Amino acid sequence: EKKKKEDAKIEGAIEIAIGVKKEVDFAAWYTNVLLKADMLDYYSVSGCYILKPWSYTIWESIQEWFNARIKEMGVENAYFPMFVSSKVLEREKDHIEGFSPEVAWVTRAGQSDLEEPIAIRPTSETAMYPYYSKWIKSHRDLPLKLNQWNSVVRWEFKSPQPFLRTREFLWQEGHTAHLTKAEAEQEVLEILDLYRRVYEELLAVPVIPGIKSEKEKFAGGLYTTTIEGFIPTSGRGIQAATSHCLGQNFSRPEMFNIMVEDPNDPTGRGKVYVWQNSWGLSTRTIGVMVMVHGDNQGLVLPPRVAGIQAVVVPCGITAKATDEERKRINDACLDLEKTLKKAGVKAKADLRDGYTPGYKFNDWEQKGVPLRLEIGPNDLKKEQTMSVRRDNGAKAPLPLADIQTAVPKLLETIQSDMFTRAKEIYDSRVKLVTDWKDFVPTLDAKCVVAMPWCEEEACEDDIKERSARGSEQTDERAPSAGAKSLAIPFDQSRWPKIISGKTCCPACGRLAKKYTLFGRSY
Ligand code: AMP
Repeated sequence: EKKKKEDAKIEGAIEIAIGVKKEVDFAAWYTNVLLKADMLDYYSVSGCYILKPWSYTIWESIQEWFNARIKEMGVENAYFPMFVSSKVLEREKDHIEGFSPEVAWVTRAGQSDLEEPIAIRPTSETAMYPYYSKWIKSHRDLPLKLNQWNSVVRWEFKSPQPFLRTREFLWQEGHTAHLTKAEAEQEVLEILDLYRRVYEELLAVPVIPGIKSEKEKFAGGLYTTTIEGFIPTSGRGIQAATSHCLGQNFSRPEMFNIMVEDPNDPTGRGKVYVWQNSWGLSTRTIGVMVMVHGDNQGLVLPPRVAGIQAVVVPCGITAKATDEERKRINDACLDLEKTLKKAGVKAKADLRDGYTPGYKFNDWEQKGVPLRLEIGPNDLKKEQTMSVRRDNGAKAPLPLADIQTAVPKLLETIQSDMFTRAKEIYDSRVKLVTDWKDFVPTLDAKCVVAMPWCEEEACEDDIKERSARGSEQTDERAPSAGAKSLAIPFDQSRWPKIISGKTCCPACGRLAKKYTLFGRSY
């Protein structure tokens, strides 16, 4: 009996299973995956989490990719302090109104109260722009394009969720100043497209680019562009990243007064208040990726961001095997690791003693490693390795002779298959609604509503209230039952043309302007 228990433990199946089904208790599944994949640990301050190497390495991949692209655009990295004086923080009225409920303040140092409390940045517009005003003296100083990789603090009271909504989170925030509106607007879209590519090309997560409603735009900005993600299991939308055009709201004289002489004014007396943008992408990326791709065995990593892309596991070594046989298999595994590394694959041979192959399989599956390569005595005889894909479980022998081309190719196939599958699901869950009676049932069916909309703020408030009423709110940890507008997609071609003067908003009956996505969201 005791031996049986031991065996089961070694096999690992009981000890390391995810335990909760994704479709049954999504919230518990999510935290279990994060803990068991060793991505995260809880911390003694509520709403804050420790990012362990297995998740931090994903963030590093994103940083590396994004840094290279923005540097090509002429953006430079810099660092501003995390503290903001209350005077500058409160200068822009709409901005501070939007953020003030979430700002954390330092009020004491040691035993003495500070004369004036100091804010911890919730975002750095107000920390940076007094210096933009100082540094930008001539149109020759434009454009100014700075970015920082930092953390910000937003003391949210909505229930925190690791990665998705945390009180301190890592992000990059870009802040640029331009001479013309056209130049600023072009950059807003270029950045948004880089964000789209981070999600789609690195994380294999589909997103829909668009613009935010007036109600949902960045506090104090002119307009906000967004990429909206979707979590199929909960049917909720999620704001994946945002690129804001701030207009001249922060540069005006009564604000930060960032101004240059107008080089195009023949009198030489004209002035231009600069056009500004700010844009941010956070570690929320990682949470969305986990929720979209993970399954009941654990995490599923897209190859391009996986810390280990292929794990090599020695198999079929019986208890009777001689030391020499054992060594032969282990050496073959090490050889394969070396060959793959040379080919640019992040490979690892798992030669841990005292663990069965079964235990190792489970362990790496839980951690989401995209590809497992097994090598046993029979494989060696046939000069092959047995490959097993994490995303769909497909098994296929690969000849060792051209393994350095076969594995990178297979990893690319996994990457694109993961994206295609997720995109098919997202596409199938965006439902056209033209009659209000279908609105809440569509949400309850875990779908996003695409509907011709009037774009009135009062209508959006009303939709939120009416869609919260009488809905089936099952997940009590979920933030809200009411739907909000997620985005007005740039691509409107998926739906029948809106006829101006005729097509009406199903929610209020006023004339509709554009198709807008509505959904419950995180
Ligand atoms: P914002 O400056 O408010 O537009 O935020 C930029 C991006 O950061 C958003 O688009 C979100 O994806 C992300 N974000 C906002 N709040 C949080 C949070 N509490 N935790 C993690 N990510 C966040």
